[in-house]
Amino acid sequence: MGVCPSATMALLRDNFTGALRPWARPEVLTCTPWGAPIIWDGTFDPDVAKQEATQQNLTIGLTVFAVGRYLEKYLERFLETAEQHFMAGQSVVYYVFTERPGAVPRVALGPGRRLRVERVARERRWQDVSMARMRTLHAALGGQLGREAHFVFCMDVDQHFSGTFGPEALAELVAQLHSWHYHWPRWLLPFERDAHSAAVMARGEGDFYYHAAVFGGSVAALRDLTAHCARGLAWDRARGLEARWHDESHLNKFFWLHKPAKVLSPEFCWSPDLGPRAEIRRPRLLWAPKEYRLLRD
Ligand code: UDP
Ligand code: MN
Repeated sequence: MGVCPSATMALLRDNFTGALRPWARPEVLTCTPWGAPIIWDGTFDPDVAKQEATQQNLTIGLTVFAVGRYLEKYLERFLETAEQHFMAGQSVVYYVFTERPGAVPRVALGPGRRLRVERVARERRWQDVSMARMRTLHAALGGQLGREAHFVFCMDVDQHFSGTFGPEALAELVAQLHSWHYHWPRWLLPFERDAHSAAVMARGEGDFYYHAAVFGGSVAALRDLTAHCARGLAWDRARGLEARWHDESHLNKFFWLHKPAKVLSPEFCWSPDLGPRAEIRRPRLLWAPKEYRLLRD
């Protein structure tokens, strides 16, 4: 693949390069058509990325929603493994959004790491819990979270960390390749196709299919992202529509219109159900098995 040749200095500024070496993984795509790195294991130096982040004395936010049964089922393991693997050695602030603050497990936090719990209303349908995240995140980013963090990752709770997820993942705007779809032809990707939806993508549109279980960026970039998605969700709702993959459909539309500065390979959020694959060397997050009957009413 060579070095991302069209990567401009502007793109690389605020993009924790970690001394990128895309040639280390010739068998996979390591650069987007617009010049953003797609980071795979071996294409970055985690120590260099760590140094870059430490020098800037960053605070990194990690938001997660745990509403209804998702709290007991997933939150403790998510937080415990984040303590081991997420931005180790950096200043981190977790934001847990739940309707039952008293039930949040007490996880021992390392130095420089804090956890804040924010109360949210419990929506009736699981789709509504998922979609309501965009509006809630937008408000949080405009409040204390936005003031105390420089960069933020927003994640699903039904997964756990299994490997280093460090500053090499930081950039102005970060998208996650969906592990089910990264090798599919573009025309098969499950974008929203209903022309009445705000999330519609025409045939031929779309770069990659991104997973809503992980996205991140600067506070300003995420304010824009969450505003766009919340607006699109409200627009659809007012018309009695719901995009095929809910908030994820609107997220994909946003990333089509506003290209991410960095893309995470499926190693960063892998589904073990897919089995071993040669190009998946070291998964960083693993999806929990889908147990929808236990979790969703
Ligand atoms: N969520 C939650 N309670 C619910 C539904 C969803 O806390 O009843 C949150 C949780 O963080 C979850 C995310 O919303 O990981 C997205 O939902 P889910 O993971 O079920 O969607 P999927 O990954 O299957 O598309
Ligand atoms: Mn999920």
